[in-house]
Amino acid sequence: MPSTTAKEGLLVCQFSAAQILEGPTNGLTIVRSPMACMDAAVSKVYEGILIYFSARQLRVRDSLIELCADLNKNLRIRSVPKCVSLEYPHRFLLAKLREAAVEYVDIRLPTESADPWKIWERTMVQGTNLRIESHLSRLCPFLHYKPISDQNEMITCAAYRNRMVLGGRRLHEVCQTDTHLHCEYYLNPRVSA
Ligand code: SF4
Repeated sequence: MPSTTAKEGLLVCQFSAAQILEGPTNGLTIVRSPMACMDAAVSKVYEGILIYFSARQLRVRDSLIELCADLNKNLRIRSVPKCVSLEYPHRFLLAKLREAAVEYVDIRLPTESADPWKIWERTMVQGTNLRIESHLSRLCPFLHYKPISDQNEMITCAAYRNRMVLGGRRLHEVCQTDTHLHCEYYLNPRVSA
């Protein structure tokens, strides 16, 4: 569970302009770009850094990963707890965030308000559940993502030669949960050409 020793409020980096923040804004420093986030992060000691990101922002994923890596490399801020808030679990993006040494990821439900303090409270209370390893362990390793436009990807099953497009209940209730361990394709992958 993250430390609670620093007491300078939360630094909130809001990558997605469309994301409307809700809840009390007391103690929040809100920035809108990776550069502004980095500048603010080194300017004082925060209780934590929360980064809102939409996994649908395909073109700026690299900026998110770079920011997280830079935040974790900087000696002054590497020990400040950080959490990336995504609107759905994305195996490829989570794996990249793990490489950037991100420890915590909060998955917002579609109906849930983007209240920074609520998300932070959840991170503090449910630290273990929100660890990136915990998310990755629930996702089927055969999930495959192929960009089809600036904002969209097609998700297919690599255990079925990427010929099965995933969505709906199978994606949400099997491929993105522990239930994938019982999936017939996971148990008997058809990976050859
Ligand atoms: S269909 Fe089965 S094997 Fe394919 S991604 Fe989903 S859970 Fe994994």
